[in-house]
Amino acid sequence: MSEKILITPKSYYKIRDKMMPLLGDYQPIFNDTGKTFTEKQMLNLAEDVVGIIIGIDPISSKVIENASNLRAISKYGVGMDNIDLEAAREKNIKLDNTPGTNNVSVAELALGLIFAAARNLPQAVKSVKKGEWKRIKGVELTDKTLGLIGCGKIGREVVKRAAGIFKSIKVYDPYFDDSQFIRKYKLQMLDKDRLLQEADFISLHLPLNKETQNFISRKELSLLKGDAVLVNTSRGGLIDEAELYQALKNNELESAACDVFSEEPPGKHQLLELDNFLLTPHMGANTKEAVEKMAAAATRNLIAMLENNSAGGVKN
Ligand code: NAD
Repeated sequence: MSEKILITPKSYYKIRDKMMPLLGDYQPIFNDTGKTFTEKQMLNLAEDVVGIIIGIDPISSKVIENASNLRAISKYGVGMDNIDLEAAREKNIKLDNTPGTNNVSVAELALGLIFAAARNLPQAVKSVKKGEWKRIKGVELTDKTLGLIGCGKIGREVVKRAAGIFKSIKVYDPYFDDSQFIRKYKLQMLDKDRLLQEADFISLHLPLNKETQNFISRKELSLLKGDAVLVNTSRGGLIDEAELYQALKNNELESAACDVFSEEPPGKHQLLELDNFLLTPHMGANTKEAVEKMAAAATRNLIAMLENNSAGGVKN
């Protein structure tokens, strides 16, 4: 009997026919629910599979403990924060991810959110559809400073595009030292506090980990310019949402535009009641181009690990 693999990403399901030739004899279990699986569902679904192509669904230590045949986990994308990596390594489960497949898509969404916030696009469309004709005043980006936190693969794609839009780009990333890139795009490298004080638009492009949990909290929000815009296409846990709510309500910043939330979907959260808070449903990588690249790369990675042609290895 052929071995089972679990494929959780919802967007993979939509292009599964294209991927079938890559799956060989493995028996795939797809996610046709249209929703991210819960830990409880993952416990059942992963119980007798040998491999998982994982989206943003939780692979906790419990899920790993319960999946006694599991040999390999292939991330559909980059961020591994939904996987208990320590538990996986303890059980010698191979791990891999697909860097380079969605950088452009996420960078373009970050810029989309910047434009949407600068010109109040969602509010304007909503008002027209309500029968109003409210011409909401926005701001230009041409004379503004973009502040980037994290200048990795996605951050650099933002820089390449933002260089033609903003007056200047300032960066905080203590691990980034590509002097050629810094010179080429005239980046000003700053410490965190100065970047928060000086930027008009701040876009987060760093990973979520123990060190970066609530990376933007009370102190950081208090440093922002009163008309600053905060954009987060990285991970929800980077921003302290209770503090962001207070800051937006008290006009300590102009607005925030996010693609990610600490809990997805967020349910009835008070931030959603604010007009100056925009949230898209974690769709940064959800483009035709990125989905096909991620699906093919994640499938090849999983099959190579299962057939012992690859030892895996999480890449940045
Ligand atoms: P990357 O690893 O290439 O880059 C991350 C950068 O952050 C690195 O340059 C690193 O030096 C920097 N960094 C790490 N810790 C930092 C800190 N404490 N302060 C400042 N900088 C720090 O990652 P990437 O591929 O560019 O992804 C960036 C983020 O985007 C990740 O959180 C990832 O999970 C997220 N992401 C979101 C989506 C989406 O659909 N919205 C899709 C893909 C990735």
